[in-house]
Amino acid sequence: MKTDWLIVGAGFTGTVLAERIASQLNQKVLIIDRRDHIAGNAYDYYDDHGVLLHKYGAHIFHANSERIWEYVSQFTSWRPYFHEVQALVDGKLVPVPFNLNTLDALFPRTVAEQLERRLIERYGLGVKVPILRMLEDEDLELKELAKYIYRNIFEGYTKKQWGLKPEELDASVTGRVPVFISRDNRYFQDTYQGIPRLGYTEMFRRMLSHPKIHILLKTEFREIAERVSFDRMIFTGAIDEYFDFAYGQLPYRSLRFEMRHELINRFQSVAVVNYPNEHEFTRIIEYKHFSDQDLPGTTVGYEYPQPHKHGENTPYYPIPREENRAQYSLYLKKAEGLKGKVFFAGRLADYKYYDMDQAVGRALKIFNEIRELQSLHLESPAIETILER
Ligand code: FAD
Ligand code: UDP
Repeated sequence: MKTDWLIVGAGFTGTVLAERIASQLNQKVLIIDRRDHIAGNAYDYYDDHGVLLHKYGAHIFHANSERIWEYVSQFTSWRPYFHEVQALVDGKLVPVPFNLNTLDALFPRTVAEQLERRLIERYGLGVKVPILRMLEDEDLELKELAKYIYRNIFEGYTKKQWGLKPEELDASVTGRVPVFISRDNRYFQDTYQGIPRLGYTEMFRRMLSHPKIHILLKTEFREIAERVSFDRMIFTGAIDEYFDFAYGQLPYRSLRFEMRHELINRFQSVAVVNYPNEHEFTRIIEYKHFSDQDLPGTTVGYEYPQPHKHGENTPYYPIPREENRAQYSLYLKKAEGLKGKVFFAGRLADYKYYDMDQAVGRALKIFNEIRELQSLHLESPAIETILER
C-alpha cells in the first residue's frame, strides 16, 4: 500500500491533520490507531443501558478561539452545556473552583462576609487567583484562608491524582482551577462551550469521512511502518516510545475508570463531584448531564489515578514539572533531526497538558507549516530516512 501520509493516532491531533491534509491538499492519508476506535481520549459510546458515556473521563469542549470553534463546528452542532463541579468538603458539597459561593457554604455568615470583603479589596471582583500564589499573600487572614483551601481542596486531590504535592508540579497545574473571586459556579469561563450534539465519535467520523482518508484500527505503528509505503508521517503517540526510550521513560500519569449503572434517574446534581479528602478515586462523573438523555437509569464513572507503566496501562497525562521537561527536551532534539519528514504533535508527542481546543490549535498550526513547506517545495522526499531514525 502506498500513501502520502501516515498519521499515527486518531485522536483530535491526528484527526484534524488527516482532515486538513485530505480536504485542503488533496493528498492520501492513512490514519492508524492501536485502539479499536477513533476519537482518541475523546471517544464516546452507548453502554448496554443506552447511556452515552465518555470512555476516558468527562470531556467538555471549551475554547476562546473563534477560529478553533468554527473549525470544529463544521463537523458537529452543539448541545449548550456549562460545566459545574462540586467537591465534598467537611461533609458538604460545595462549588469548585473555590469561589464566593464556596466561602458562604463553608464558613459562618459573618466570617464569610468579612473574607469576601478582604478578597475583593485585595484582588478585585472577577479575578482568578492560583492557590500557590494566594498562599504567599502577606495579609494574614487571606493566607489562613489560602491554607484552608489548600488543605481541603488541593492537597489530597493532587496527591491522589499525581502522587505529588501541588508545589512539586508546575504552578500551571493547580492554576487550572484558581480561586475565583466571583459567584460564577461554572468550571470554565470560555466564550465557547458545549458537547457535540451527536457525540464526539460521530464528530470524528465526519471529520474522517473524506475519500482520501483511510482508517486502520487495532494497528500498531511499528507493525504498519514496515508494511506500507508513505512519504511523510505525523506521530501523535508518546515521543519517548517513538525513540525506543533512548533517554529513559518519560513519566506519565494513568487512570482506571470504573463504570457503574444505577437504577435511579439522577445520581448527583452536577456532572462531576470531586473527592479531595475521602476515597481512592478523585471524582465521580455522571454522564447523563452531558447528553440529558431521558432514561430511567444512570451510569456513573469513578476515576482512580495510578502511575503509568509502559505496556500495562495508558499514559493519559504528561506530568508537568521541570525535571520532566528537561528529559522531554532531549527527545525534542532528536525529533528535530527528522524535521519536515516526521511531525510530532499532540498531548503525548509534545508532552504538554493540552485541552481539546489546544490540541486542535496545535494541529491547525502544524497543518499551516506543512502547507507552507509544500508550497515552497522545501519538503524532502526520502521516506528511507524516516525509517532509519
Ligand atoms: P489522544 O486523544 O491521546 O490520541 C492519541 C492516539 O494515539 C490514541 O488514541 C492512541 O491510542 C494512539 N496511539 C498512541 N501511540 C500509538 C502507536 N504507537 N500506534 C498506534 N496508535 C497509537 N480536554 C478538554 O478540552 N476538556 C475536557 O473536559 C477534558 N477532559 C479530559 C479528561 C481526562 C480524564 C483526560 C485524560 C483528558 C481530558 N481532556 C480534556 C484532554 C483531551 O483528552 C486531550 O486534549 C485530547 O484527547 C488530545 O488529543 P491527542 O490527539 O493529542 O491525543
Ligand atoms: N485540583 C485539585 N482539587 C480539585 C480540582 C483540581 O487539587 O478539586 C488540582 C489537581 O492537581 C488537578 C488540577 O487541579 O490535577 C487540574 O484540575 P482539572 O480539573 O483541570 O484536571 P483534569 O480535568 O485535566 O484532570
